[in-house]
Amino acid sequence: MPEKFDVIVVGAGPAGTSCAYTCAKNGLKVLLIERGEFPGAKNVMGGILYRKQMEEIIPEFWKEAPLERPVVEQRFWFLDKESMVTTSYKALEWGKEPFNNFTVLRAKFDKWFASKAVEQGAVLINETVVLECIVEDGKVVGVRTDRPDGDVYADVVVLADGVNSLLAKSLGFHKEWKPEEVALTVMEVMKLPKKVINERFNVNDDQGVSVEIFGDSTKGALGTAFLYTNKDSLNIGVGTTLSGMIKKKMKPYELLEYVKEHPMIKPYIDGAETEEYLAHLIPEGGYNSVPKLVGDGVIVTGDAAQLVNAIHREGSNMAMTSGRLAAETIMRAKESEDYSERTLDYYRTAIYDSFIGKDLKKYKDATHVFEENPQYFEQYIPLMNRAMGTFFTVDGTPKREKQSKIIKSFTGKNGRLGVAKDLYRAWRVVK
Ligand SMILES: Cc1cc2nc3c(=O)[nH]c(=O)nc-3n(C[C@H](O)[C@H](O)[C@H](O)COP(=O)(O)OP(=O)(O)OC[C@H]3O[C@@H](n4cnc5c(N)ncnc54)[C@H](O)[C@@H]3O)c2cc1C
Repeated sequence: MPEKFDVIVVGAGPAGTSCAYTCAKNGLKVLLIERGEFPGAKNVMGGILYRKQMEEIIPEFWKEAPLERPVVEQRFWFLDKESMVTTSYKALEWGKEPFNNFTVLRAKFDKWFASKAVEQGAVLINETVVLECIVEDGKVVGVRTDRPDGDVYADVVVLADGVNSLLAKSLGFHKEWKPEEVALTVMEVMKLPKKVINERFNVNDDQGVSVEIFGDSTKGALGTAFLYTNKDSLNIGVGTTLSGMIKKKMKPYELLEYVKEHPMIKPYIDGAETEEYLAHLIPEGGYNSVPKLVGDGVIVTGDAAQLVNAIHREGSNMAMTSGRLAAETIMRAKESEDYSERTLDYYRTAIYDSFIGKDLKKYKDATHVFEENPQYFEQYIPLMNRAMGTFFTVDGTPKREKQSKIIKSFTGKNGRLGVAKDLYRAWRVVK
């Protein structure tokens, strides 16, 4: 192992491996450090991997990557206790090249992805925890690991250590995340025969479905549950902001049991056996929570930088693009052998000029507004379900009477003005 590397990347998740792969492919000496037994061993994701951003790193990766199913249908369920309003979009073209997105199991995918970085020349060391950044004269010059003689040096250290980035925090780039800036999510991978999955979700072997579930699945708290189809297993999970969980005094494992027992969900997982149980935080602070992204000799990427679009459930793709942009920044810096904050600031600009900065900005107030106004999840979803029930139950009531009953149910508590204000507020945060 050379004494000094061009780049040390901490964490072999989507952000870190994207950076390591791109740097190694372009001839830089890269050390990728992972605390898990292997990349992916400890990683958790609902499971949707986006084709576009992955393809920008490895073209046509789907020809060899361990993927589960290409998703051809995106369903949305709005649950009440014993009813649900649903909507979905199905596109057969998503099941063919170049695809839109795929379900994946991270333990398999991350391992494969990191092996591709190694093929390009990156050195991967597993079962190694980076304890801190080594800082000399205000500049990050390497990392201290938990191995004997574990100090390693590099021109640039890339922090891709995920949502609990203790390293960025210890550099003073951000404070402890607040409970409203992170969501706590629990999930299970449940084994179910392929044939049963195909029948229940109305797909064939090469088609997958993603279901996002709102309303009663989180007992009205800000958050969602999800149900995704793998080849021969299902991923089922639920998450809410940590503050929402605290406020409603919910225990995550109880909430997942509640979801699994929900009469609208239970038939889909009936007979499935739990293979894995996982829990993880998701950074959901959005635009206003993005920390300092660069310093002298250091760049922060992916979840460690709060780069997640919670509204669209996009995190892995932002992680990958941020890793790639970090690599491109380092390659530029290498030309002038200048790794100062000023030079690395190219990365910050690139992030804000990309879809990442633009999308985070578009939804910058969403988490806060929905958290402060629980009526959207607590009241409007049950009201919508009851309205549908009223309208479609054939009981001899004239339709006009039903219509006015429905309107009254919406305006009853807050009046027309209150509903109009809520609609306007919701429109403003997602517009
Ligand atoms: C339940 C759940 C469902 C999700 N669903 C989706 C989804 O469907 N689609 C989507 O796009 N995104 C989803 N996300 C978000 C997505 O998983 C993350 O945005 C993405 O994984 C971030 O990648 P990353 O590389 O920044 O961090 P991570 O994937 O967390 O990787 C960080 C890596 O760093 C390692 N590490 C940490 N600290 C150290 C250290 N000190 N030393 C050495 N190694 C270290 C970890 O072991 C890990 O391998 C979901 C997240 C969760 C929790």
